[in-house]
Amino acid sequence: MAKIGFIGLGNMGVPMALNLIKAGHAVAGFDVSPKGMDALKSAGGSAAGDVAAAAGTSEVLITMLPAGKHVREVYLGADGVIAKAKPGTLLIDCSTIDVETARVVAAAAAAKGLAMLDAPVSGGVGGAVAGTLTFMVGGSEEAFTRAAPLFATMGKNVVHAGQAGAGQAAKICNNMILGISMIAVSEAFVLAEKLGLDKQKLFDISSKSSGQCWSLTSYCPVPGPVPTSPANRDYLAGFTAAMMLKDLKLAQDAARAGKANTALGAKAAAIYERYVASGEGGRDFSGVIRFVRG
Ligand code: NAD
Repeated sequence: MAKIGFIGLGNMGVPMALNLIKAGHAVAGFDVSPKGMDALKSAGGSAAGDVAAAAGTSEVLITMLPAGKHVREVYLGADGVIAKAKPGTLLIDCSTIDVETARVVAAAAAAKGLAMLDAPVSGGVGGAVAGTLTFMVGGSEEAFTRAAPLFATMGKNVVHAGQAGAGQAAKICNNMILGISMIAVSEAFVLAEKLGLDKQKLFDISSKSSGQCWSLTSYCPVPGPVPTSPANRDYLAGFTAAMMLKDLKLAQDAARAGKANTALGAKAAAIYERYVASGEGGRDFSGVIRFVRG
């Protein structure tokens, strides 16, 4: 069983850390807010005094932070993870961040002889609680093999996507597909409404035809056809529109840097930007159909 440091005990970090404790690991957590550390302590973990304490006493250090700037601060600071980790500590960042930051931090870790993986997840808070997350992992084969049992404790599907940054690249490409396809499905249902076509009929036909996709068959944005979709509970998240906007913006930043043509990704980001600005950022991202409907 490993000594694990866990930094970033929010909505995702707490349930991920609890699954590690349940599997018998010793987890010392740190967060700038006490709430997550209290939850960790009640489940048998311990609280670290700061980033340096969490990093300096662990064999594996996991982070689950809001954005790239937090990851830079926690890893690259004078009292940060890379400065304070013991030789041989494996670093795993599970936050969703920009590819550039993931590569910069991994390079700084490598310069100190520390192995690092970028390992963003999909599956949301429900997947974190159930231990069924999907991990998309970038980094060396050796580090991936070392981390594999921990990923298996917190998740169900684990894919080694390539070298440093490849996990983040996979995450933003996947979520760009998702953001675009949710708008496409929403537009189709709104058009069907205007044409007098019953939503269940459209679902029955498209879910078995070439329009089939996850946004339609697992997460249908109109109530009825898929009883488990957020549309049936007033678009209670789920995966919030604000998080979808964050990921679409990361995709656009990467597209600009890589000179990739992502015209529909840009349009989807603009639509989610306006949806979130209308005050609906905390709603499930499939609620964008309300914005499409006008
Ligand atoms: P969250 O805001 O609930 O948790 C982040 C935690 O990091 C907070 O508790 C915050 O206090 C802490 N933090 C910030 N700066 C810190 C610092 N310098 N030192 C220590 N702690 C610090 O966010 P979340 O929902 O848990 O998401 C975490 C990451 O996972 C994000 O990158 C998000 O995009 C990604 N993600 C979230 C979901 C989801 O459904 N919530 C799904 C997939 C991926």
